[in-house]
Amino acid sequence: MKDDFGRNIRYLRLSVTDLCQMRCLYCMPAEGVQKLEHDSILTVEECIEVCRVCAELGVNKIRLTGGEPLVRRGIVDICRGIARIPGVEELCITTNGLLLPKYAADLKAAGVTRVNLSLDTLDPEKLRRITRTGNVTDVLAGLEAAEKYFGHTKINSVLIGGINDDITDMVALTRDRDIEVRFIELMPIGECSDWPEERFVSAEAILKRVPQLEYIGDKGVSMLYQVPGWKGRVGLIRPMSHKFCSACDRIRITADGKLKPCLHSATEIPLKGLHGEELKNTVASAIKAKPQSHLMDETHHSDSLRGMSGIGG
Ligand code: SAM
Ligand code: SF4
Repeated sequence: MKDDFGRNIRYLRLSVTDLCQMRCLYCMPAEGVQKLEHDSILTVEECIEVCRVCAELGVNKIRLTGGEPLVRRGIVDICRGIARIPGVEELCITTNGLLLPKYAADLKAAGVTRVNLSLDTLDPEKLRRITRTGNVTDVLAGLEAAEKYFGHTKINSVLIGGINDDITDMVALTRDRDIEVRFIELMPIGECSDWPEERFVSAEAILKRVPQLEYIGDKGVSMLYQVPGWKGRVGLIRPMSHKFCSACDRIRITADGKLKPCLHSATEIPLKGLHGEELKNTVASAIKAKPQSHLMDETHHSDSLRGMSGIGG
């Protein structure tokens, strides 16, 4: 359905848990987040119901995220239930990859169409520093599982000035593999909201350091590049240096069932406990009232009440 500004809302990002095995500096506090009360999170059935209602209202793409979606108990059942909903054409997962070797086959069989994997650097020391707990070998095993079961895979790589802004080795991943490495500008939200300016680097500036990349076109919010003759591609996602609000087609639902019409707004509409027509009407009014735009890129401040681990990106 369309919101009050004529944007056709077709993309839902559903967070299925706040929890994660990693502790990325920009996303999670070192000690992790406090576990949500079991009764406050959407059950497997509620996750599926809320997706069905969104599909009835015109959503055709759903992404499961978190925290780390693969640590959620019942994740395969959630995927199977959502994949069967009429109107859902794409069911994707964004993951840190650690549990993909274990779950990729089951997720594929359950109807997941694609996975995006987060990997900020191939340098073992830097990855440990950024994620506090992760290691490159385990994430690369997840990448192999993603490629084996889902083919074309996108890697999300958040750029942090002074830490992982040498992207040469990440770009080199696209030489022989059908991979799209997407460099994402760090947003000042949650854990990194008061980080110094030099940590927030423009994706375009970083890209200039790899002059062999050629621009090949735009796709959605991503600007695409390729090294001529290489198999994969490189994408740039620039939430800080460009505003995408006029074309924004997404809504978000948190693990505790709060609908966020805009990532950077404080507005949260509670859905937990609602069912049937009441749930559908509430989701429909939330979509209609999606704000026209946020000011995060100008004010360098997000009004969101939660950090990324509580929203799902
Ligand atoms: N745990 C999963 C993962 O890491 O892919 C899913 C959840 S994570 C919150 C989703 C994405 O948000 C990841 O690619 C992560 O790098 C990105 N992210 C987290 N905090 C961010 C920030 N402040 N700015 C930009 N991207 C961020
Ligand atoms: Fe976990 Fe993903 Fe946040 Fe890293 S970005 S701490 S992997 S939820």
